[in-house]
Amino acid sequence: MILALESSCDETAVAVLDPAVGLTGEWVHSQIALHEAYGGVVPDLASREHLAHFGPLLQRALATVRPEQVTKIAVTNGPGLAACLAMGLATAKSLGLAWRVPVVGINHLRAHAFSPFIALHATNPSAFDAEFAKLLPHLGLLVSGGNTALFSLDESRRITLLASTMDDAAGEALDKGAKLLGLSYPGGPQVEKLAATGNPTAFAFPKAVAQRSTLEFSFSGLKTSLRYQLEKMAPEEIEHRRTDLCASYQAAVFEALVRKSQLALERGFGGRDLRIPPSSDGATDARRGSETPPYSETVPYRSFGLSGGVANNQTLQTKLAQVAKQIDVPFLRAQTKHTGDNAGMIAFAAWAERESGGVNESGLALEIAPSLPLAQL
Ligand code: ADP
Ligand code: MG
Repeated sequence: MILALESSCDETAVAVLDPAVGLTGEWVHSQIALHEAYGGVVPDLASREHLAHFGPLLQRALATVRPEQVTKIAVTNGPGLAACLAMGLATAKSLGLAWRVPVVGINHLRAHAFSPFIALHATNPSAFDAEFAKLLPHLGLLVSGGNTALFSLDESRRITLLASTMDDAAGEALDKGAKLLGLSYPGGPQVEKLAATGNPTAFAFPKAVAQRSTLEFSFSGLKTSLRYQLEKMAPEEIEHRRTDLCASYQAAVFEALVRKSQLALERGFGGRDLRIPPSSDGATDARRGSETPPYSETVPYRSFGLSGGVANNQTLQTKLAQVAKQIDVPFLRAQTKHTGDNAGMIAFAAWAERESGGVNESGLALEIAPSLPLAQL
């Protein structure tokens, strides 16, 4: 059994994974209500909350599993808020020492990357490795409050970052847009609700970046154009047209996500974007800087996945499912409970990445890594 702990931001979470069965228990304490009053996460308050809640959550987990059954303790070691990550690491190391069980560090973003496959594992754990292999290489889109990334997952379960955002993340763009529109934090779900009855073509927000042929994302210009639009409108008019504003703004954010995903899927696995760094062995890539990606050397992706908080948006789900259908690849989406901060995906990544080098085995020497990127341990 793998016991997992997550405390990278504003959720304290514990989960237990039996690789032969699936996740047997998940416990979360959310701090959203606490931070809402401040309009965002206050790191000091968040770490105190983790200190207060790991004990009770672990008591609940330990009512379902005996310490002797735990063979590994997995903990998020980054990215996240330093003081919050430290709470998880200190707790995990203490348990590891007391129980003489190895402690491994999990990259929160990599765990998101694997989250669309948790349900596949749960349906038939013993067939997972064979079924998973049929879905690789995989293209993943991770969209959360802090990250927007397209990445590939190859046959060896290695992750390569294909593109990220040059400025704001998609969730951040929705949250900042929502704030400009007078909605409370986090804005993404509220924008979705209001957008449902609005007209997505009522306002024309810029789509230049979405239409470019690179995979990189950029959302800050969009937010600025919303601000300019709102400055031109009287308060009553904004109030009156809020649903149209939400629908049009959300559509512009999603246009980029949909277009770039489509582009990456069409390009295939092995296709390069212009900003891919040199390979780790230092060899220079002769194709770097070339405007034309090497389509001829690519192979088709065999699945497309969506993860992160913004994955909860039904309009986005529908649009991306359509793209996958057009290209004829299976579309997998993380279940709602595995889209935000949760320990279930941490436990799953500790198991799914056990042989692909994606797990940090530093044990008691494990350090927090507040700015850990997706494609590193
Ligand atoms: P992070 O951990 O990087 O802050 P999360 O994965 O916890 O991000 O996701 C939070 C983000 O997801 C927020 O930006 C929030 O607005 C967005 N989000 C959550 N639900 C929805 C939704 N239904 N539609 C759009 N955005 C959403
Ligand atoms: Mg979060």
